[in-house]
Amino acid sequence: MDLPKLAIAALGGTVSMQARNANEGVIPTVSGETLLASIPELTNLAWVTVDTLGLLPSASLDFEFLLSVLSWANFQIRQGAVGVVITLGTDTLEETATFFDYLWDHDEPLVLTGAMRSAAQAGADGPANLLDACLVALAENSRQRGVQVVVNGQIHQASVVRKTDSLALQAFSSPIFGPTGMLVEKTVRYLRQPAQRRVLPLPQQTTQKIALLEASLSADTLLLENILDLGYDGLVIAAFGAGHLSKSWADVVEKITEKIPVIIATRTGSGSTAQSSYGFMGSEMDLIRKGASMAGFLCPRKARILLWLLAGCQCQDKLANYLNEDTRFQN
Ligand code: GLU
Repeated sequence: MDLPKLAIAALGGTVSMQARNANEGVIPTVSGETLLASIPELTNLAWVTVDTLGLLPSASLDFEFLLSVLSWANFQIRQGAVGVVITLGTDTLEETATFFDYLWDHDEPLVLTGAMRSAAQAGADGPANLLDACLVALAENSRQRGVQVVVNGQIHQASVVRKTDSLALQAFSSPIFGPTGMLVEKTVRYLRQPAQRRVLPLPQQTTQKIALLEASLSADTLLLENILDLGYDGLVIAAFGAGHLSKSWADVVEKITEKIPVIIATRTGSGSTAQSSYGFMGSEMDLIRKGASMAGFLCPRKARILLWLLAGCQCQDKLANYLNEDTRFQN
């Protein structure tokens, strides 16, 4: 029987972590091949190739490395893979998924997964998550959905998924939108039609710097005032509520927007920024007047990825289009 080709890459994360000695903390050690050996049933479903591209905690992944992983994944699709699965750390999964999703130019699915419990822990979730991710990557109904995160039996769309718990098994959720699908008795079930996606050009450069600052009560403006002198090419602010700042921050933002793009996102963890509700100094209407762009449903960390990618292909002038017309949020 001709089995479909599936490509898997391991980058590290808890899913690949073990302790070298008792009483030591776990570190990435387990190769992709060893992970694959934990789900023997996959050999009946697919012809699998596996590569260990890294053994890193996800806090230490960087954009250059992710671009090299993307080029590996593109190659796998050109070689006939019907889908690609990447195992990696969950700490930055909401960002890595967004990064790949903006650049994934295939109908075939790219599925990211990881684990909250390392291999030696009782109830380790790595094997189950990896098998689910492979089932999603092999499913015909996963096509044209871009990048998805598969964890704990749920499928989340890259554009909205967030890590919302630090240690729980159910660590991921998609606020407002909910999971896009789930696995029911090993069958991949979607709850929504695929959203339309707009893919960005590959960045031509990787040296651009985008700052992310969070507004907090009675915060001084010292860091903000130095953003331009420090050489940043863009700024994202995780702002209060629907996209609000203090008057003193808003005054500095006005000076910054003369030179570099500024995105205002909400720090609340859920919901959209406003456009036309509040008129006080520092409100969303005031900040728009001062030249800032509102992130809408895009969370601050995902907004930073978008701005970094746009700056990398000299497309900052298209920022408003990407923020206002992002069809990933329309289902
Ligand atoms: N809980 C994280 C993980 O799932 C810790 C380490 C990391 O993100 O690499 O992998």
